[in-house]
Amino acid sequence: MPSRPYLTIDLETVRKNVLGLRAALPTAEIRYAVKANPAEPILRLLVNLGCTFDVASVGEVDLCAAAGIDGALMTFGNPLRKPAETAYAFARGVRRFTFDTAAGLQAIAENAPGSGVECRIAPAFPSSVTPFGHKFGCAPEDAIELLTQAPRLELHADGVAFHVGSQQLDPKAWEIGIRCARDIFEAVPGLTTLNLGGGIPVSYDARVPGVGVVGDAIADALGQHFPALPHIVIEPGRAVVGSAGTLSCEVVSVRTGTDGSRWVYLDIGRYGGLAETENEYIRYRLRTKRDGDPVDDAVVAGPTCDGDDVLYRRYPLPVTLRAGDLVEIDSAGAYTTSYSSSFNGFACLTTEFVEVTDAVTTG
Ligand SMILES: *Cc1c(COP(=O)(O)O)cnc(C)c1O
Repeated sequence: MPSRPYLTIDLETVRKNVLGLRAALPTAEIRYAVKANPAEPILRLLVNLGCTFDVASVGEVDLCAAAGIDGALMTFGNPLRKPAETAYAFARGVRRFTFDTAAGLQAIAENAPGSGVECRIAPAFPSSVTPFGHKFGCAPEDAIELLTQAPRLELHADGVAFHVGSQQLDPKAWEIGIRCARDIFEAVPGLTTLNLGGGIPVSYDARVPGVGVVGDAIADALGQHFPALPHIVIEPGRAVVGSAGTLSCEVVSVRTGTDGSRWVYLDIGRYGGLAETENEYIRYRLRTKRDGDPVDDAVVAGPTCDGDDVLYRRYPLPVTLRAGDLVEIDSAGAYTTSYSSSFNGFACLTTEFVEVTDAVTTG
């Protein structure tokens, strides 16, 4: 068999990332966003570490269930759901759902009676690296109205959720959501939960605010706006698994294109797992055994027959790089295997796991 790209996940790093999040926000429930990497060894480690799970589809409900995770530990956090999907999750024990419209709230009442609900709001956050735009969330005024309605539908109004956008580089973003949520908590008696979403960034090719900096910004904002602290939830995905993954791939070809540029083709691209290179949003760090040799800009592209399968227009790589060279991509544990497709017949990205170094998996 020809070699093909694979991801190595170091479970010890996953564990350390969870402990780091817990140290930064000691009172927060850590509700892992499963879409970042739904591999079973990761889910099993996280449940042992006391995490809960944010699922976005019936497929993710099933993946968690297959990893032995009880429905009571799952929250269906994607407000885009068919009634039958809500019912499916409810039948598997899921009892917490988010919503952002009156119709969505009604559908939870009908298909998941008696459940707890979080209302997703969409204040104007500073743009993140991969922003949600206007896709999710309602205006804070509407959240007041909807959460007030919930008990009449025999749902439990748990609280408010927001997401500052993935790979959020501005720690002040969370304060905007916390301030908005405070007004809703003041207007709706009985709310208990404030879900601060994901967005904690990972270092790719540049340094980013660390989890401690983000944690301090969140703690300051909570202290300022919430004299009595609600139950705090964070929903990290990237920050749990990103730095734990190293992707090993290979140079397929190096040539001068008809544009005069040097083109470097890898055996993985946009469709094999590097989807987040779209618009060059995520700039991964590529390492080769020729690092240290003189470098020059190259166009970096994937192996498929699609013209859009180009990762970077200008990326400095050793001029000595040639076909067959191994390339390692750092911090590739999040949003890679979960995006990987078999487009053009290239195999989906597979994963090798490095087990935790000691027998202790609880923290
Ligand atoms: C994707 C997602 C997350 C995780 O976001 P990260 O930026 O990976 O931390 C958390 N919550 C919700 C609702 C999401 O959609």
